[in-house]
Amino acid sequence: MKQIQPTGDERVLAGCVYCGAFPDTRDHVPSGVLLDKPFPDNLPVVPCCSSCNNSFSLDEEYCAALVDCVLVGSAQPTPRHREKVQRILEWQPALTAVLEAARSVDADGQTLFEPDLERVENVVLKLAKGHAAFELHTVDPEEPSISVAPLPLLDDASREAFETPPEVCFFPEVGSRAMHRMFEHGVASPSWIVVQPDRYRFLASPGLPVLVRIVIGEYLACEVVWGE
Ligand SMILES: [Zn+2]
Repeated sequence: MKQIQPTGDERVLAGCVYCGAFPDTRDHVPSGVLLDKPFPDNLPVVPCCSSCNNSFSLDEEYCAALVDCVLVGSAQPTPRHREKVQRILEWQPALTAVLEAARSVDADGQTLFEPDLERVENVVLKLAKGHAAFELHTVDPEEPSISVAPLPLLDDASREAFETPPEVCFFPEVGSRAMHRMFEHGVASPSWIVVQPDRYRFLASPGLPVLVRIVIGEYLACEVVWGE
């Protein structure tokens, strides 16, 4: 990823971006489990507290494994999975059992997985907060609305709406990374940032409303909107 040195007010990055507590560690956004090695250079890093850092890891593994199991059509560890997910499934029989229990086969012989939405949304919110803090210098304590849907199942109009960056009627904070990116692209509109092709991309729009869209594994389409 291209690194942008922000020149704006970084005070929002003084506390844990997830809960505001004293930040005694740092967190990559997105977390490594959603990416394959070699990792892209200059991954965004945000300050956070150890308690938040630890609290998300199981759900992040669940999310990464879920998306891959849906794409592969199996919850059994196989070489068809991403290497990282194959290892998670091998080493965590409890998680494999949870995913296996969520799997079913419909009348057409298609494999389906019923996701634990609470766990998925927990991860999506965490990722969105990280992007909002890093890209937009925005830490909004309000509860945002979260939507998650399989990208391939969106109809054409929904897909178009999701992929099209929103019109920005508010400029991002002067000096923030989002502002720098906008000037670079010559348009007052945020653009999709591909962290790793086929693995992870996101778009952070300064608003109004402030929103973050994320696509995980080119499968899971997520949107988090504050203050709608
Ligand atoms: Zn925290």
